[in-house]
Amino acid sequence: MIVMKFGGTSVESAVAIERVANIVKARLDRHPIVVVSAMGKTTNKLQALAQAAIAGDRDQYIRQLHDLRDFHSREARQVVPLDQRAELDRVLDEQFQEMTELVKGLAVLGELTPRSIDAISSYGERLSSYVVSLAFEHYGVPCVHVDSRKVIVTDGRHTQAAPIFDETYKRLMATVAPLAANKVVVMGGFIGSTEAGVTSTLGRGGSDFTASIVGAGVHAEEIQIWTDVDGMLTADPTVMPGGHRVKIISFAEAAELAYFGAKVLHPATVIPAVERNIPVLILNSRRPDVPGTRIVAEAIKGVNPVKSIACKKKITLVNIQSTRMFMAHGFLRRIFEIFDRYETPVDMISTSEVSVSLTIDNTAQLDRIVEEISAFSDVTTEPDQAIVCLVGENIRYTPGVAARAFSSLGTINIRMISQGASLLNIGFVIAEKDLRDAVAALHTEFFRDLDPEVFE
Ligand code: ADP
Ligand code: ASP
Ligand code: MG
Repeated sequence: MIVMKFGGTSVESAVAIERVANIVKARLDRHPIVVVSAMGKTTNKLQALAQAAIAGDRDQYIRQLHDLRDFHSREARQVVPLDQRAELDRVLDEQFQEMTELVKGLAVLGELTPRSIDAISSYGERLSSYVVSLAFEHYGVPCVHVDSRKVIVTDGRHTQAAPIFDETYKRLMATVAPLAANKVVVMGGFIGSTEAGVTSTLGRGGSDFTASIVGAGVHAEEIQIWTDVDGMLTADPTVMPGGHRVKIISFAEAAELAYFGAKVLHPATVIPAVERNIPVLILNSRRPDVPGTRIVAEAIKGVNPVKSIACKKKITLVNIQSTRMFMAHGFLRRIFEIFDRYETPVDMISTSEVSVSLTIDNTAQLDRIVEEISAFSDVTTEPDQAIVCLVGENIRYTPGVAARAFSSLGTINIRMISQGASLLNIGFVIAEKDLRDAVAALHTEFFRDLDPEVFE
């Protein structure tokens, strides 16, 4: 059994869905379980229409609902057999009717809770998985649709729920694994439900995570993440196009890259895969013959110290200076307790005797955090920063990586430096305006000579 996850761009249109059907059809002997994202940018659109609703902009949200229905209907009709079109229309009518009622309810309340964001966001994957399952039948892929909310059980932290693994694995083993023996199971990614049956989501980009949860739950032999790039590249193509494909990488490296911004993989994806030691592949649905990136427990070491450069934009740097002369006992604890209480994750930290600098990307609660810390310290914040992170297991065995990074960055002002305890990464905080130049300079420095075993 294998799990094949297709992201938003891989199911964005009738043409894309036909491509997916052919990719799956060519692998039927491996008993695929297919996990799909919402079609194209549907999740963004659903969240935008919920915003329009609470802003009281009725014309806007009604129009957005119509557009979304037209989009799904137009693309789906082309991949659904003629005799199923009436059924397709019936289901679309039913789903959009439900959505309209939900959105009208939001408009009346004028308030969007995490729970209602999940309710509205879930329609993207509910619709796409239904459409893809009809398309599979049309293209001769025998399949069965499973509502992910019946098998992926999560806690109640809506919009970023965590799976309850024991129960989820139990359900996957009891329902999905036997179905996959005879047919291709099609499920929506990203969505689940709480133990009380309330719809939840695993956080943006969470379909990758669904794929690995399903893979671990059914003891799949492989988890394939099909997307719109050839694999993990040596640099984020949106910042620096033209990076090289990394052929093989370790779970630890991939997790670090994902955490520091490589959007190609949701950061939690490797967790279930590591636990059951299931290889994860990143593949391109537009170029299915490219071998992609293989993520495994032990990667080939190779000669290059760095495997890839990750980056994260829209970072805020927070500088905290103790107003006492020396760092009083409990200073750090007090600071982190505040970030924790406001559920604001800290990405990078560096400390000196009387000061702490740290970075965050979620600034929703920043004003309140600053207010509380100001009671015992001086605090300044700097928006528009970026993190650039070199990742590679060889960094720890290679002296001089930091020195090479520094000299290649030349005159770019480095605001903060951090080397992870894992010795797997070296991160820098710089102004976002310098990001392109910084990534290009680091890329030239570390990928001038490529080990052909690891890169292409
Ligand atoms: P999907 O919809 O298939 O989940 P995503 O947009 O979430 O796709 O992830 C794929 C995107 O990740 C790529 O189009 C690319 O822009 C981005 N990305 C960022 N860093 C990297 C990297 N190091 N290697 C490959 N892609 C990356
Ligand atoms: N559709 C969801 C999102 O856009 C989940 C995913 O694509 O992985 O965030
Ligand atoms: Mg994604």
